[in-house]
Amino acid sequence: MKSRASAGPLSLYVHVPFCRAKCAYCDFYSLPVGTCLDSALADGYVAAVLAHTGILADRSGASGFDTIYVGGGTPTALPMGAFVRLIEGLANLSGPAPVGEWSCEANPESLDAGKLRVLRDAGVNRVSLGLQDMDDDVLRAAGRASTTKADALRALDLIAAEWSGRFSADFICGLPGQTPASLTGGLVRAIDAGAGHVSLYDLTLEAATPLAGAVRAGRTRLPGEDSDRAARCEAERIMGAAGLRRYEVSNYAFPGQESRHNQRYWESGSWIGVGPSASGSVSLPDGSVARSNCARDLDEYIADPVGSSSEEIVAPRDAAFEFLMMGMRTFRGVDAPEFHRRFGVGIETLFGRSIDRHPDLVIAGERGPAPTSEGLDLLNVFLRDCLAELAESAWRPGS
Ligand code: SF4
Repeated sequence: MKSRASAGPLSLYVHVPFCRAKCAYCDFYSLPVGTCLDSALADGYVAAVLAHTGILADRSGASGFDTIYVGGGTPTALPMGAFVRLIEGLANLSGPAPVGEWSCEANPESLDAGKLRVLRDAGVNRVSLGLQDMDDDVLRAAGRASTTKADALRALDLIAAEWSGRFSADFICGLPGQTPASLTGGLVRAIDAGAGHVSLYDLTLEAATPLAGAVRAGRTRLPGEDSDRAARCEAERIMGAAGLRRYEVSNYAFPGQESRHNQRYWESGSWIGVGPSASGSVSLPDGSVARSNCARDLDEYIADPVGSSSEEIVAPRDAAFEFLMMGMRTFRGVDAPEFHRRFGVGIETLFGRSIDRHPDLVIAGERGPAPTSEGLDLLNVFLRDCLAELAESAWRPGS
């Protein structure tokens, strides 16, 4: 892999590839390790991640990370010793200035007061708790074997009592057996416990997962579109009444509690990714993007984190479309001046016809085109037209 310097602020994503048990709907790279992850394996993973982070940070030339996100997998599935080494090691590598936003994902069954203390003492200021639904029947039907409602209630009590930083709760809409009441029951509890941010994803049935197999074989039924719509509507009503506003396709927050790290992705900024299966992305001066991918295999990654990673260059044409697509995921919309700076062409020049064709989906935002509420739900309709318009365009990057 080449050395890539980052011009703007740089973020760091760390993938922790361990979970207590594998959920039947999940296709993230994570290994089910129960409650006794082998400490030599955990230590080898942490050593590889810290070495990799140090090398990529040096190459980037950045003086520190603007945001850090430790996700997975389940970071809190690490045994305490490895968890401390990872979090303290990242704090040591993060540069002299405090990290603007540092998030760590946690799962209810493996979060405890000691781990919250480690996070707080290292400067982590945001915890993202994976709840998905808090009804035991739904968790069982979805094949989420590691967590129960009791675990979730305990974790919420712990966060309410012990955590003073920001707190986000993750839910999934469309799980088998889910009802509007089961989804919103959990949501209300999370907001009561202090969640200032909620991610509400639609279930994506990934073909290779056990859940997709069970649905194909007729052993499991999904709730269906009407039920999903009713659940999402009721969830949005509850969040709206509490003061959380939708700011991205799947994300809701009190004003000021929006995720800064994810904003980096939506603004096509630069970040480095470490840990098996993590990807990184650095914008290059000619408008192209260097996208790196870490090995999707723990042993390979531990043996040689740098050498087992690969890199591809996303050409400026594709990068321009990605920039538009990611920007249109948020109500802030696309940063048109930045688009022009990167690609040397106006966004209206490339996509003006599609923008004009959809006044119900796209409006003028503070910095460029932005989605309406309907536009956020029907993004693909607009993007399909943009792709066709780009294909017909005579634009030659760099000309
Ligand atoms: S806990 Fe999260 S990352 Fe782990 S298997 Fe379940 S959904 Fe996937």
